[in-house]
Amino acid sequence: MALIVQKYGGTSVGSVERIQAVAQRVYKTVKAGNSIVVVVSAMGKTTDGLVKLATEISPNPNRREMDMLLSTGEQVTIALLSMALQELGQPAISMTGAQVGIVTEAEYSRARILHIETTRLSRHINEGKVVVVAGFQGISNAGEMEITTLGRGGSDTSAVAIAAALKANFCEIYTDVPGILTTDPRLVAEAQLMDAITCDEMLELASLGAKVLHPRAVEIARNYGVPLVVRSSWTDQPGTWVTSAKPQGRSLINLEIARPVDAVEFDTDQAKVALLRVPDKPGVAARLFGEISRQKVDVDLIIQSVHEGNSNDIAFTVTTPILKRAEAVATAIAPALRSQSNPKLEEAEVMVEHNIAKVSIAGAGMIGRPGVAAKMFATLAEAGVNIQMISTSEVKVSCVVNAAECDRAVLALRTAFEIEAGEQGAGSNDGKLSTQHGLNAPLPLTALSTQHSALSTQHSPPPVRGVALDLNQARLAIRQLPDRPGMAAKLFGLLAKHNISVDMIIQSQRCRVIDGVPRRDIAFTVSRIDGENAKKMLTQVAAELGWGEVVLDSAIAKVSIVGAGMLGQPGVAAKMFEALAQQEINIQMIATSEIKISCVVAQEQGVKALQAIHAAFELAGSEKFVVPA
Ligand code: ADP
Ligand code: ASP
Ligand code: MG
Repeated sequence: MALIVQKYGGTSVGSVERIQAVAQRVYKTVKAGNSIVVVVSAMGKTTDGLVKLATEISPNPNRREMDMLLSTGEQVTIALLSMALQELGQPAISMTGAQVGIVTEAEYSRARILHIETTRLSRHINEGKVVVVAGFQGISNAGEMEITTLGRGGSDTSAVAIAAALKANFCEIYTDVPGILTTDPRLVAEAQLMDAITCDEMLELASLGAKVLHPRAVEIARNYGVPLVVRSSWTDQPGTWVTSAKPQGRSLINLEIARPVDAVEFDTDQAKVALLRVPDKPGVAARLFGEISRQKVDVDLIIQSVHEGNSNDIAFTVTTPILKRAEAVATAIAPALRSQSNPKLEEAEVMVEHNIAKVSIAGAGMIGRPGVAAKMFATLAEAGVNIQMISTSEVKVSCVVNAAECDRAVLALRTAFEIEAGEQGAGSNDGKLSTQHGLNAPLPLTALSTQHSALSTQHSPPPVRGVALDLNQARLAIRQLPDRPGMAAKLFGLLAKHNISVDMIIQSQRCRVIDGVPRRDIAFTVSRIDGENAKKMLTQVAAELGWGEVVLDSAIAKVSIVGAGMLGQPGVAAKMFEALAQQEINIQMIATSEIKISCVVAQEQGVKALQAIHAAFELAGSEKFVVPA
């Protein structure tokens, strides 16, 4: 007998018939000898409807009242589903987040779970009841017992957290697609279903826009080793398993906030090549990285940022032994890029830097917590370390610094994030995540047959597992920020103070001396809803601190590829850039981490970009998916 947590999303409980179908599935699972906790979302588009109602009354509704309002959606579903189960003769009881004791921070609209009381849940389970829990909501225990919500899409998070707290055998997420596909089937009907995907890959995909799973749910699954599967609530197909290495025992107290950073990593075997002032037009990155991959040069980080005028800088890092080859390729290609550009433009130039090191902080706990990156930058600033390049993913922030300062940087970061040197794991100075991937999760018995095929196809994973599109971002750029320790810390500290999460952060390579001070531009992306506020706040500060102009572009799209197999595969970036070039799509920004590459393009080209990239990596299958309305 297994203890299973099942979660049903909005479409899956969108009507009386759907709720009855869900009750049947739950009933069948109980009759097969299992104990079930069900977590449900609000019916259909109820939450959107409630948001609309609120905005008809206030353009900027009070966040406490918003949580009071939105939490009602789930309460309807729990009652109806319990009734439907009781109609089938199955004892069931509905419970709100507060009744269960899903205790959260006192932070409306985006609360994190601190811990989950299991006493009442366990008692009802032991009495043979199905417990039907309202997803997406909790109760804060600071002072008053306040109703909180976990943020849109948060029922996934509720379900996985309950599975972790109850040490359930596994957690099933039932939704309107057959599992996790290579991309959103609403954008590419031929997207293919995956048998399995690692938590690391899914975390990136989820945070880069694949809304099939909430990234915080994946984070909890990874931290607590909860076996997780995504399946369709319409069929009996096996779905997609999200797998993780067996984690070390972790306390269930401060469940979502315990430790934002798990490791400090460094790599001193790095060198940087930058091409300054290359033309800002489609095809440039494709040409450069196409040539680089033909020369079998494996690049690590790639960044490209925006500039005034019509030129860009592109920089990448390589390991020291292949620097000479990388430099030769860049030098050979620079004149060709130059001659195609606007003749009035300053000439492109290749810049090489030998003595650099990459230091990174890694950990799923930094998702949506803007203070973590800010703390890294502040720590480096206090240690007098200047940051030359920044590259971010949802679960990692890497900074390129002078090699001579690497030890100091690592020591300061370990102290700041309370990481013991011994926790780095063997051979950690290559800074890569490769050893953390794998399919070591304890698998539920019912999953074994699927997992066998998953395991056999996982031996050499394809370099790219999935493609994601995020249309909800805006880009901010600050011109002429003084290039000295502490600037990134100041900037991102300010954003963190205003609770604005930053995603891609890119510092320009080009340095200009103005009024005797060397200055660089810095660009980053934020959620579109934060764009205007961030701009207003930063414009004020910029005037006080002597920074240049703050520029906001809300019409952007971010398209990303994710796959653990891209480590050590030279041609992957080139293929992505080439797919965009063929469609005449200009790349505005590039940022990479070990297992993802993201490009910012114009918003109206986002869908076309995603489709072109999905096709280029031959991810399409023969079957077409039709998502239920
Ligand atoms: P639920 O209401 O069940 O939580 P969501 O709407 O939050 O469902 O998530 C499911 C949707 O996620 C799908 O209908 C699909 O359009 C979208 N999606 C985006 N990327 C992917 C992907 N890679 N695989 C599957 N679905 C995806
Ligand atoms: N009902 C909430 C939402 O629509 C939570 C969820 O469905 O996960 O965002
Ligand atoms: Mg969802």
